[in-house]
Amino acid sequence: IGEVDEDYAPIHTYQVCRVMEQNQNNWLHTNWILTEGAQRVFIELKFTLRDCNSLPGGVGTCKETFNMYYYETNGDEDEMEDGEMRDGESRYIKIDTIAADESFTELDLGDRVMKLNTEVRDLGPLNRKGFYLAFQDLGACIALVSVRVFYKRCPFLVKSLAEFPDTIPGSEASQLVEVVGRCVNNSLPLYEPPRMHCSTEGEWLVPIGKCVCQPGFEEINRSCQVCKVGFYRSLLESLACSKCPPHSVARQTGATVCSCEDGYYKIDSDPPNMACTRPPSGPRNAISNVNETSVFLEWSIPMETGGRKDVRYNILCRRVLPDGRGLEECGPNVRFLPRRVGLSNTSVMVADLQSHTNYSFLLEAVNGVSELAKDHAKQYVSLNVTTNQAAPSPVSVVRKGHTGKSSIALSWAEPDRPNGIILEYEIKYFEKEQDSSYTIIKSKDTEMVVEGLKPSSVYIFQVRARTSAGYGAFSRRFEFQTSPYREYSRRCSRASIVAVAITLALVLLAVVAGFLLKYFQECLLLFKISLRCGYSKAKQDPEEEKMHFHNGHIKFPGVRTYIDPLTYEDPNQAVHEFTQEIDVSFISIERIIGAGEFGEVCSGPLRLPGKREIQVAIKTLKAGYTEQQRRDFLWEASIMGQFNHPNIIRLEGVVTKSKPVMIITEYMENGSLDTFLKKNDGQFTVIQLVGMLRGIASGMRYLSDMGYVHRDLAARNILVNSNLVCKVSDFGLSRVLEDDPEAAYTTRGGKIPIRWTAPEAIAYRKFTSASDVWSYGIVMWEVMSYGERPYWEMSNQDVIKAVEESYRLPGPMDCPEALYHLMMDCWQRERSNRPKFDEIVCLLDKLIRNPSSLKKLVNSSHRVSNLLVEHASVEGDSRTRSQTVGEWLDSIKMGRYTELFMEGGYSSLETVAQMTSEDLRRVGVNLAGHQKKIITSIQEMRVHMNNTNSTVNI
Ligand code: AMP
Repeated sequence: IGEVDEDYAPIHTYQVCRVMEQNQNNWLHTNWILTEGAQRVFIELKFTLRDCNSLPGGVGTCKETFNMYYYETNGDEDEMEDGEMRDGESRYIKIDTIAADESFTELDLGDRVMKLNTEVRDLGPLNRKGFYLAFQDLGACIALVSVRVFYKRCPFLVKSLAEFPDTIPGSEASQLVEVVGRCVNNSLPLYEPPRMHCSTEGEWLVPIGKCVCQPGFEEINRSCQVCKVGFYRSLLESLACSKCPPHSVARQTGATVCSCEDGYYKIDSDPPNMACTRPPSGPRNAISNVNETSVFLEWSIPMETGGRKDVRYNILCRRVLPDGRGLEECGPNVRFLPRRVGLSNTSVMVADLQSHTNYSFLLEAVNGVSELAKDHAKQYVSLNVTTNQAAPSPVSVVRKGHTGKSSIALSWAEPDRPNGIILEYEIKYFEKEQDSSYTIIKSKDTEMVVEGLKPSSVYIFQVRARTSAGYGAFSRRFEFQTSPYREYSRRCSRASIVAVAITLALVLLAVVAGFLLKYFQECLLLFKISLRCGYSKAKQDPEEEKMHFHNGHIKFPGVRTYIDPLTYEDPNQAVHEFTQEIDVSFISIERIIGAGEFGEVCSGPLRLPGKREIQVAIKTLKAGYTEQQRRDFLWEASIMGQFNHPNIIRLEGVVTKSKPVMIITEYMENGSLDTFLKKNDGQFTVIQLVGMLRGIASGMRYLSDMGYVHRDLAARNILVNSNLVCKVSDFGLSRVLEDDPEAAYTTRGGKIPIRWTAPEAIAYRKFTSASDVWSYGIVMWEVMSYGERPYWEMSNQDVIKAVEESYRLPGPMDCPEALYHLMMDCWQRERSNRPKFDEIVCLLDKLIRNPSSLKKLVNSSHRVSNLLVEHASVEGDSRTRSQTVGEWLDSIKMGRYTELFMEGGYSSLETVAQMTSEDLRRVGVNLAGHQKKIITSIQEMRVHMNNTNSTVNI
């Protein structure tokens, strides 16, 4: 029907209105509609429908709906007659029954209001070339105004330099069609080919991956343009072409790297944006300082470093042959500390030269490109020196033999380097704390009995050797005590109960007599220790006795012993026995705080029923673990679970009944000690630092009393809580070392912790509480130097060698002498001479009670940062070093201020020596701790300068 709408515009509609007649079944079908490949189409209908209730004369058979159908076919079969249509009705599939949202009444007709309904239906999946739509009326009053059939598609798109073609969506309503994009010209996929997803709504969704311009091109306006001459682009990750770095050129467009100008070089590991560089000029201002048969060489960095930071120095050592016979290379017996080639610091110690001999040293500076620059003339600086006669090296250990109430027998070994025939030894001794008067006696032998001493008194002994070249330095001080009067009865008065028990036991059971005797010895030992605080170095290692005793499986009442989980056939049994299972529902994981060997370490609250909520650390075992890994992981818990001490990390329990498996420990807010100290460099008082050390020693005393050897004691394995309480942790390593003969070099970090480990443990795996004491000495050094790396950048091999040759770490900056002495004692080569942990605790307590004992600091000349001190000589030599301001700041770990000092005009040590706190603030040193550190150093520098000057004046 042709009609006009409410605006009197002509419209064509299909109408039917046979509401009063029975059995209506009227069909209207469309032409064949081509799908054009679409699998899902949309049909939008616009129609009006008459309200049956508003019909005059009753509704009769009036309907208010009609049906919509479709029929799919590959060809146009629709030259059908009406009759055929009827036959074909059965071929049609119903899409839906359509009702009107709004139907019109008589009134509306009068007002000519259309009340047009719009309904949309979707249809799919469609598989043929086309389809018909049909509308079935069963007796309604309808006017079908329009039928719009359409489908949606995702349009052609360029995104992230990838082209995505015009795409027809899938047939299912929520289906996404994945489309792989094609990178535009001169671009490549980054990591993976770019992809997008076409939704049924015709929208591109979920982009994955992208393309980037290939090297030599850059992205401009969604395409890749070639780099211009003088520019390059090497990496897919960088976006734009960059200007060639200094001393390099790109002569053509599209360069991926710039090539170096003549005389300049690059090594493979140099980043593309780094300038081309050249070899350095020679070292400058070389000076030598001869000390007997050692020479200390020192120089300044080259004027021209070639633009690189990797300047290293090599030393060529040659002996001048007598009578002008030329030069001969120094043999392998000459030692270089830290090494001969590849030195990163500007000094080296050359030792074990021949006495009274001329040497010529050539110093050469090289850097990463020296190898490439073969034509470059090398610049050496040469130094000629003559060695002196050498006195013997110090006696390293003095031992105590039989001790009476008025005599002590001493013995010692010949010095490591006698440098001639030893004519005699001198023994100097005095009563402790009365060093104003002392006695010297001489001996031709390496032993003697010192007589005429007071009973129950502590004496200090030092020994030195003499050759025709004179006396060597005295050994360090050794403290020994004479026996008391009526020694036996005094001991027994304390140990009487034990003695009675032993007597009875001896009578009853001769078999266990050996063990009980050990018990008796142990009591005497404990008694002795309780009498005084110092430690004697010559007595047998009670730690080992104790260990031995533990192996004998006899336990004292009240003394707990550590039980190795290995003694359990089933490791789960040990876990069961020593740990408490926690239900995972009591734990909430809130944060990740670190990465452990087996998985993440997290923190969060633990709410055990009936207990106060506490913060805990949660170590997790990552998914996909093997049974062995699970056992190793829980191993630590079955060790930790046996300990109960305020300075040992406390195990709260384990989660093994659900996954992931977890170990729950108390939470230590400040994390591991090494990182904590580095973060708070210079911020603590000496007493605070000693307090931390005391805590660690106390925890270690507990472990050694339990018979547990830690083997990996280091600041990184100490945790710190918010009250600065330090607790020993990390109990995982000991078994690994025990089990695996290769483990000395293949523990989880890669190697045995060489820098922290005692020589006997490195050499033949003799791990004892005494080797833990060595490690404790290293921890002391780490603490006092605020987390400095022990032995700095020296290689493990060099560390082993230097320690073997009796060199030890120098005293850290601002370290009280008493603490440095204790460190040096922990590093005694002879392990029975090292202090025991209870003696260490006792000594630290004494220092804390008497803070003035911490006032005297280690002599500043020890702190030459790249030089180790010879063991047994705590007093260092007072070598003068000509340092630059930068080097000096570096040596006190304040190198970060070098630039500020230079900008402030403090470019020489002479000007720095005049600086006040006010001057420091002015140049920009604002942290109080750093000001203090620098001022203390400046004061020391002034003293040092005054000493040097007065020597010159004399
Ligand atoms: P570990 O596997 O024991 O070496 O732990 C890895 C890291 O997690 C450590 O270095 C610490 O930073 C952190 N961590 C481990 N246990 C705790 C704890 N109880 N409290 C706080 N942080 C911890």
